[in-house]
Parts: sequence; structure tokens; C-alpha cells
Amino acid sequence: MRILIDMDNVISDFERGFLEMWREKYPHNIWIPIGKRQTFYPTDQYPPKLKEFVEGIYLEKGFHRSLKPVDGSMEALSEMVALGQDIFLCTSPLTRNKYCIVEKYEWVEHYLGKKWIKKIIVTKDKTLIHADILVDDKPEITGVKEPHWEHVIFDQPYNRYVENKKRINWKTWKKILSIDSNIS
Ligand SMILES: [Mg+2]
Repeated sequence: MRILIDMDNVISDFERGFLEMWREKYPHNIWIPIGKRQTFYPTDQYPPKLKEFVEGIYLEKGFHRSLKPVDGSMEALSEMVALGQDIFLCTSPLTRNKYCIVEKYEWVEHYLGKKWIKKIIVTKDKTLIHADILVDDKPEITGVKEPHWEHVIFDQPYNRYVENKKRINWKTWKKILSIDSNIS
């Protein structure tokens, strides 16, 4: 199977990185625990008056490079490859952060190694990419095409209302995607 894996909040821990940096930079402002996050974009849940400060965190140089891998994600990617799956990383960069794309490439090289750089697909429209599955935390993914892939939700607190799609985390993926042999 050809599987597209989103990066932010699927393999790179954007939510955790944001919250740690937010609390460090603004210790006296309100903060929302990760388990209580209810919107895809943090700016939709934080008070509007804080919007520019919230965005300021992830528009900053170095933010994307500093993110930690989501627990279990690196091991899962290696295992998928070992099981004969054709894996690509498919990411939509923040267009307002000019460092974002280069930092994502640096991040992949650092955590996964040079050979994974060739597996990065950068696009603002994932419906244009042909694959069997897209694993993504975003609740709805739209674009110019009817997608070929099946959207499998990567579980996050803010997407739990989505009920009509398969849902995985890095503990359950193998069972839910029925990947358990070298036959792809
Ligand atoms: Mg994402």
C-alpha cells in the first residue's frame, strides 16, 4: 500500500511544542491543556485578543525544527517500511512561516535520516496526491480533486467528533490498517 503520513501532530508534536513554548514565553497567560484542545487551529480556541501571540509562537524561526517526534511515530514508520509499505511524508507547510519548509526537511533528516528526505511531499493540496491512505489529524481535507486516498484520522483531542473515518494512533495503527505482513 502507498500511505501518505502527515507531519504536524502525526509524527512531529506541534501541540506539545506549542504549549511548552507558550507557557515558557507567557507564564501569566491562560493555557489550554492538550487534552482539552477542541479546535484544529489553536487560534480558534484561545481568546481572540491573544491571536497574534499564539501565532507568533509557531511563526517563529526554529519552532518547527524544535518539535519532538510524536511518541511511537518513528518506530511505526520504520515498521511500516519493514512490512513492505510504500510510505511518503505529506505535509502542508505554514505559508506565513518562511522557515517552515526548510526546518521540516532538517527535522526529517535529523530524526529519520537522509533517505527519508526523498519521501517528503510538500503540497497545499493533498487531494492531488495519489495514494491508498492518508493518515492526517485534520478533521476534513479538501482540495481541487476528489481524493483517491482514504482519509484515516490520526487521533487528537480536537478531532474526536469525527466518527465516519477510521482512527489510529501509533499503538493501534497495525491492527486498524490491517498491516501485519509483507504483502502490500
Ligand atoms: Mg497535521
